[in-house]
Amino acid sequence: MLPYPSGDLHIGHWYAMTPSDARARYMRMKGYNVLFPMGFDAFGLPAENAAIKDGIHPMKRTFQNIERMRKQMRSMGAMFDWEREAVSASPEYYKWTEWFFIQLYKAGLAYRKMSAVDWCPKCNTTLAREQVWGDDRHCERCGTPVIKKNLDQWFFKATKYADELLNFDGIDWPQTVKTLQTNWIDRSEGAKFFRWESLKTGFRKGLKAIMMSRYRLYHSS
Ligand SMILES: [Zn+2]
Repeated sequence: MLPYPSGDLHIGHWYAMTPSDARARYMRMKGYNVLFPMGFDAFGLPAENAAIKDGIHPMKRTFQNIERMRKQMRSMGAMFDWEREAVSASPEYYKWTEWFFIQLYKAGLAYRKMSAVDWCPKCNTTLAREQVWGDDRHCERCGTPVIKKNLDQWFFKATKYADELLNFDGIDWPQTVKTLQTNWIDRSEGAKFFRWESLKTGFRKGLKAIMMSRYRLYHSS
C-alpha cells in the first residue's frame, strides 16, 4: 500500500497497514527474509489539488508531506524497509515509467485518439467512474455536476491481452476477486492512458495511466 502524500496519514492508513505489518513481522521472526517496502504515490489527483488549494509548489508540498508521513510511520513502529522505498514523484522513479511507455509505443501498443471522459469543472480533472456519484452525476470530492468532455488521450491496447488476462487457470483467487478482475479488464473498454498537461501549477508533466472500468480505477505513473 503506497499512500498518496496529499495530507496527513489518518487512522484509515493504520487500519490498512497494521495487518500486513503484523504478518511481515511474524514471518521475519520465523526466520524468513521478508521484502516489506514502503512508498508514496504522488501523481494522484489529491496531491495535485491539495497543492493548488494551498498555493504551494506541488513538488515542494509533496516532498514535505512525504517526510512527515515517514516520521508518522516510524512513530507507529512499523517495520517497513526504508532502503526499498519507492516515490513515484521522484525523477529516479518515473524515468522508468517513461521508459516503459516508450517501449509500449515502439511496440505499437500505445496510441492516441480523442475520447469522452467524465470531467469535473471545479477539480479541473478527469474522474474515474466510481468518483461520479448519484443520479445527478456529481463529483465525489466537491459535489460539482460532472460533464462529458472530449480529450486527446493515450490508450494502451490492453484488449489485445484480454483473453490471456482473463484466464485464471492455476491462480488461487477468491471468486469475488476474479469477478472484479474480469469487470476491470472489460474486453470492450480496454485501458486509457493520457498525458496530463492541463495543470498550470508547474508540476513536471507526468504520465498518468488510467485504466477505466465500471468498478475501479487503477493508476500509475
Ligand atoms: Zn470536483
